[in-house]
Amino acid sequence: MSPRVAVVTGSNKGIGLAIVRALCKQFQGDVYLTARDVGRGQEAVASLASEGLTALFHQLDINDPSSITTAAAYFKDKYGGVDVLVNNAAIAFKVADPAPFAVQAEVTLKTNFFATRDMLTHFLPIIKAGGRVVNVSSFVSSRALNQCSAALQERFRSEDITEEELVGLMQRFVDEAKKGEHKQGGWPETAYGISKTGLTTLSMILARRLSKERPHDGILLNACCPGWVRTDMAGPKAPKSPDEGAVTPVYLALLPPGATEPHGKFVSDKEVQPW
Ligand code: NAP
Repeated sequence: MSPRVAVVTGSNKGIGLAIVRALCKQFQGDVYLTARDVGRGQEAVASLASEGLTALFHQLDINDPSSITTAAAYFKDKYGGVDVLVNNAAIAFKVADPAPFAVQAEVTLKTNFFATRDMLTHFLPIIKAGGRVVNVSSFVSSRALNQCSAALQERFRSEDITEEELVGLMQRFVDEAKKGEHKQGGWPETAYGISKTGLTTLSMILARRLSKERPHDGILLNACCPGWVRTDMAGPKAPKSPDEGAVTPVYLALLPPGATEPHGKFVSDKEVQPW
C-alpha cells in the first residue's frame, strides 16, 4: 500500500505553515508544505526542520493550471492519490488598498474561488477512500451571505444549486463589479467576503456530490473558519496565534477513520455553524 500523504496549499507562512506544523506532529504519513515560490517554500521547510519537524516540499501555485496538474500527477504517481488536502491559499486586499473595487473583485475571486475550484477539480478525483478535504474559508463568508439579496441568499443556501450555477453567480459578481452594477445585482461591497461565500457554498456542493458518487469511500469534505489570526493577511491585532488558527482546519483534516460527520458543513471552533 502507498504511504499516506497530506498536502497543504499556501503553507510557506501564516495559518498554512501552522497547519503543516501540526500535521507533522499528528498525521501518520508524509506531510507536504507547498508554496507558489520555491525559495519561500524551502525556507519554511527549513524553519520547521529547526523545530525538529520533517515536512516535504512541492511547488504549487493555485493560479497556474499546469502547476496544479503537475502536482496532482506527482501525488497520484508517488502515493496513489492524496489522503488529506487542505486548501488554505488565499489573498486579501488591505482595507486601505486604493485598487478599484472592479479590480479587487476580479483578482480576489480568481485566487480564492476560481483557482481553489481548479485545485478541487484536479485533486478530488485522486482523494483516496477515507480522505479528508478542508477548504479554509472565513466567518466573513456567512457575513457576506447575509448581506446578499434575498434571491442570492436563497440560491447559496439551496440544496439543489449546482457547481455550474455557482460558477455562473461568481462570474456574474465579477462582471457586475466591473460595470459598477454589483449593488443593483444584490451583492455587498466585499470581494473577499463573496469569494469566501462562493468557497463555502462550493464545499457544500462538492460534499453532496461525493456522497452521491462515492458513497462507500467515506471521504469527508468541509469548509471552515480558522478564527481571526495574527498573520500578514489579518495583521498583528488579531487575537489568535497561527497555531491556534490551525486548530479547526487540523481537527477536520484528522477526523478519525469511520467518522461520518461533519461533512459538507461550515465549521468554526470545531463546531458546525449555521449557513
Ligand atoms: P497569509 O499569511 O497572507 O498567507 C497566505 C498564504 O497563501 C501564503 O503562503 C501565500 O503565499 C499563499 N498564496 C496566495 N496566493 C497563492 C497562490 N496563487 N498559490 C499558492 N499559494 C498562494 O494569510 P493567512 O492569514 O495565513 O490565511 C490563510 C487562510 O486563512 C486563507 O484562506 C485566509 O483567507 C483564511 N483566513 C484567515 C483569517 C485570518 O484572520 N488570518 C481569517 C479567516 C480566514 P505567498 O507567501 O507566496 O504570498
